[in-house]
Amino acid sequence: MNIDESFPGKDYKCWLSKKKDTDVMELPFSKDNTLEEFELPPDWKEIFISKLGEFRKKYRSWQLYLDICVRCGACADKCHYFIGTQDPKNMPMARAELLRSVYRKYYTISGKLFGELAGARELTKEVLEEFYTYYYQCSQCRRCSYFCPYGIDTAEITAMCRELMTAVGISTKYITEVIAKVYMTGNNLGLMPKAFLKTLEMAEEELKEETGVDIKIPCNVKGADVLLIVPSAEFFGPEHWNTQMGWAKMFHHIGLSYTVSTYASEGGNFGIFFSHNDVKKILQRIAEEAKRLGVKMIIGGECGHMWRGWHQYMNTAAGPFDFLETTSPITGTDFGTPLVHICEFTEDLMKHNKLKLDKSRNDKYKVVFADSCNPARAMGLIETPRNILKQVCNNYVEMDPEKSKEKCYCCGSGGGLLTGEIM
Ligand code: SF4
Ligand code: SF4
Repeated sequence: MNIDESFPGKDYKCWLSKKKDTDVMELPFSKDNTLEEFELPPDWKEIFISKLGEFRKKYRSWQLYLDICVRCGACADKCHYFIGTQDPKNMPMARAELLRSVYRKYYTISGKLFGELAGARELTKEVLEEFYTYYYQCSQCRRCSYFCPYGIDTAEITAMCRELMTAVGISTKYITEVIAKVYMTGNNLGLMPKAFLKTLEMAEEELKEETGVDIKIPCNVKGADVLLIVPSAEFFGPEHWNTQMGWAKMFHHIGLSYTVSTYASEGGNFGIFFSHNDVKKILQRIAEEAKRLGVKMIIGGECGHMWRGWHQYMNTAAGPFDFLETTSPITGTDFGTPLVHICEFTEDLMKHNKLKLDKSRNDKYKVVFADSCNPARAMGLIETPRNILKQVCNNYVEMDPEKSKEKCYCCGSGGGLLTGEIM
């Protein structure tokens, strides 16, 4: 294993939040920050340590993760941030150790008595800056957890450390900017309702030009059977745009009664990368809109963090969903849940011969599938997308088994360390 002892990861830091966004999110110690001005409230240390104690009591699994690592090293080379940087602090157990050492100092007898000898260290401003650097070089993908014999979830440790930093006024621009936009406009991109409706009109014009058919994308329709929630990028981004074209054609073809919404115009949930409170607030917008529109089912498009949020937290954060139904309005299949992934919905349509498909039209392509880490590892959505691909092409090829299905890599977006900072 290669290790770069110059610790190159320390040079990659996210930009800090802007006051305009942290005000909207009602975060403590809201202010404009630059990396040079890592200013903290006078009692930041007490706040951090007391919150750490609070989390330790509230989330027993989290304390367990802090206590039980045996440093076996099975996770060491499994993180894409370590593979990319060769920085030893980007090894999952070393990343977790950054916070563990502080936890030991204040919350374990051995750490209190023996300090460094017991692997404990004081919380200082330098330590906090180290947290900021390395806990935002984890995209909470849980690839490391898959290989850990104890099932230690480093992503949970990262999530909690981010919440602790937020408690003392330290958070990243990218994540807070996106969440603030959801609260102000309904979506990550900050598209106001009029602009959102305009993008739908543009898509309808393009669909007419391409197919000659009047394909509508219904919006804010009360009494539709299905509320469709997708990441807002599908209404705007060049690559994602084609996904919108695809589902609009398919839903028109099967005659599905559905609607998108301006209020809940975002599936993506950046709360997953920030705090439980924001996960909940974003999920609640979707539940509220489903109730307001009186739909029977919610279909969710392809988005990793959206599905991590729905699958793991939707019922507890925004449920119960007993006002919805679990059966497909087209085939009558009972999905066992009213929150259905668009791949599951599509696979079911294929099984019931609702789509006319000619595989040979894709004969010129050799097709592979790169799993999305959250649906694959957090919800076990592994065979469904493969089954769909095998129905639409003759040349499907499986990728390296060490890098796909549950062992797939994350795209890296979830850390919030994006192109802006590293260019
Ligand atoms: S959760 Fe993913 S990004 Fe974070 S340490 Fe583990 S492998 Fe790396
Ligand atoms: S695999 Fe699990 S127990 Fe082993 S070093 Fe990593 S986190 Fe610790």
